[in-house]
Amino acid sequence: MNYKKPLNTSKRVLMGPGPSEVHPRVLKAMATPLIGHLDPEFVETMDDIKYMVQQTLQTENYLTFVVSAPGSAGMETCLVNLLEPGDEAVICIHGVFGGRMADIAERCGAKVTKVEAPWGEAIDPQQVKAALEKVDNPKMVAIVHAETSTGVLQPLEQISKMTHDAGALFVVDAVTSYCGTDLRVDDWGIDAIYSGTQKCLSAPPGLSPVSFSAAAIEALENRKTKVQSWFLDLSLVKNYWAGAKRAYHHTAPVSAMFALREAYQLVLEEGLENRFVRHRKNHELLKTELEALGFEFLVKEGFRLPMLNAVKVPEGMDEAVVRSQLLKEYNIEVGGGLGKFAGKLWRIGLMGESSSANHVNMLVSALRGIL
Ligand SMILES: *Cc1c(COP(=O)(O)O)cnc(C)c1O
Repeated sequence: MNYKKPLNTSKRVLMGPGPSEVHPRVLKAMATPLIGHLDPEFVETMDDIKYMVQQTLQTENYLTFVVSAPGSAGMETCLVNLLEPGDEAVICIHGVFGGRMADIAERCGAKVTKVEAPWGEAIDPQQVKAALEKVDNPKMVAIVHAETSTGVLQPLEQISKMTHDAGALFVVDAVTSYCGTDLRVDDWGIDAIYSGTQKCLSAPPGLSPVSFSAAAIEALENRKTKVQSWFLDLSLVKNYWAGAKRAYHHTAPVSAMFALREAYQLVLEEGLENRFVRHRKNHELLKTELEALGFEFLVKEGFRLPMLNAVKVPEGMDEAVVRSQLLKEYNIEVGGGLGKFAGKLWRIGLMGESSSANHVNMLVSALRGIL
C-alpha cells in the first residue's frame, strides 16, 4: 500500500458486464463545480433528468425518477414499496439477478413462488401462467429483461398480459437492457421498473432510474404497513423529485447527476432506435469473429442479448489465464462466468460507449495474439 502516491489507474478498454466506458463529455460534466442540491439550478437539472428518464423508458409515468444508489437499490425500491408481509409474489429466476429479487421479496415478508428456467434459457410464459393459477391472490410478477449472468433476452409482453389478467403488478429489471434494446414501459404494461446507469446508458455507476405506473402508486397508497426502508420509501422520496415544491429528503449525488444528464443528452442525440441498431450490429460483428475463434454462444439465437455476449470458451483454453492476460497485456476487461458458469463462460459486454466496431476489433486481435 502506498496511499500517498497519486491515483494512477490504467486506461482500460471496458468490455465486461459493466461499468461500460463513458463519453468524454460525461467525464467533463462530472467535473462541473458543485452547487447545492436545493439550488434552483439543481432543481432544473433534476427536472431535465426526470424528463429524459421518461423519454428513454418510453413512459408518461409521473412517478419516474432516479434513486441515489446503484441498480440493486432500484431493485430493492420496487420490491420494498410494493410488497407487504404476507403478500404473494411470483418471482421468475433464470440467472443471478432473479435470485436476488426472490431474496429481497422474502426479506419483505412476502410468500414467494419461484418460476425457474435453466440458466441460458428464457422463462416460458406458460410456466408463469401455471404459477399464477396456483397462487390465491398474486400481488406481483417480477422478471429480469436482460439477464446479465446468462446473456438471455426475456420476451415480456405475453407475461405482462397474464400478470394483469391475474390482477397483479408487473415488475421488470431493465438494468442491462435499458438504452441498448427496445424497452416500452407503457406499451408493454410494466408497473414498476428499475435500471442502472453504468451499462448501456454509459454513465458512472451509482444511480438507478425507476418508474411506477398508476396501478403501482395505488398499491403503495393502499399499504397497511410502513415501508420497511426509510431511505427507499417512495412516499417520502417522491417529494424530493417534485419540481419546485421539492422537499429535502437526502443530499443527491450532485456530480453523478451532472454526468447522468450529459449521458442522457448523448442517448437522445443519437436516438433510441439508432442506438438499438448499433448495439445489434456490433453484436453481429463480434459473433462472426468469435465463432471463427472457436467460441460458442450459450443462448440460442433469437434470445441473445446484443449488449452482453455469453460465450463458452474453446475446449482446452484456460479462461482465467487468458482473461488475466487480456487485462494485463492489452488493458481489455471481459467478464468471467458467475455462479455455476464460473470458469466456463465469458461475458463480453458491448454496452453504450463500449459498443463499437473498434472495441470488437481490439478484442479479437488481442485474442488472436494470445491464442
Ligand atoms: C448489474 C445488474 C444489477 C445490479 O446493478 P448494480 O448497479 O450492480 O447494483 C441488477 N440486475 C441486472 C440484470 C444487472 O445486470
